[in-house]
Amino acid sequence: MTGTHSANSSTPVAVVTGGARGIGLAIGQWFLSNGYRVALLDIDADTLMPAAARLQDAGRVLAVHCDVSDPAQVQSAIEKVEAHFGRIDSLVNNAGIAVFKPIGATTFEEWRRVLATNLDGAFLCTQACAPIMVRTGGGSIVNIASISGLRASTLRVAYGTSKAALIHLTKQQAVELGTVGIRVNAIAPGPVETEMAKLVHSVAIRSDYHDVIPLERYGTPEEIASATGFLCSKAASYVNGQVLAVDGGFDAAG
Ligand code: NDP
Repeated sequence: MTGTHSANSSTPVAVVTGGARGIGLAIGQWFLSNGYRVALLDIDADTLMPAAARLQDAGRVLAVHCDVSDPAQVQSAIEKVEAHFGRIDSLVNNAGIAVFKPIGATTFEEWRRVLATNLDGAFLCTQACAPIMVRTGGGSIVNIASISGLRASTLRVAYGTSKAALIHLTKQQAVELGTVGIRVNAIAPGPVETEMAKLVHSVAIRSDYHDVIPLERYGTPEEIASATGFLCSKAASYVNGQVLAVDGGFDAAG
């Protein structure tokens, strides 16, 4: 094992979905920098493998190709993680896609695809990881939601609905899994500069956000990662079933 942290069988393990780029990759790096071993799951193998190889201390990283909306792929990916690392302590359900369209222009296929990735994915990954966490005494899960799940706005019928449902899923999971030592919380990021934002944030959306975010800027993937890491850490050991908005004050400003 090379790198700045030594690892053994008791070194904690974090699973991050959608870990090939953007917020997921920054979360993976946060875990590595804080002594964890990390499994990055992503649907895009071409981006995932080089991204994992570039991470600081890649010796503690496992990259697994996985579509989180597919039950068989999730089961097989989590089995690979357990076989490789022997335990799972944290899961971050970060994989997500965005379709920003008016209700009338959103196809049923787009609606299904957004819900399957953003909601089914978190359900399936949690179901697969929770029994493994229980075997080592518990764990922590963070679902990456969005301010679009807290407040409705135009163009986000599929995306906003999926994130609102993910927030309620977080509370359901927190209530049930809390009894077996697993804390579940959500982060609701405001706009963050990533490939997803490049894809769906038009000039008009960017201008709107600038006007309503007190900090007057987008967040960075690293700012979402450090808040996620906090919720997974012992420092948050009594935090369960909460939604932490990391949004430059957008939600507070109403
Ligand atoms: P990116 O699109 O930059 O990265 C998301 C990663 O997830 C991509 O590598 C993507 O692969 C992968 N992915 C997509 N679908 C699946 C799937 N079915 N299974 C596994 N991996 C998948 O997004 P961000 O980093 O911006 O977003 C990360 C999370 O943060 C998402 O849940 C998003 O909704 C949320 N968020 C983002 C905000 C933002 O402004 N950026 C604001 C609020 C929340 P591929 O390239 O093939 O699509």
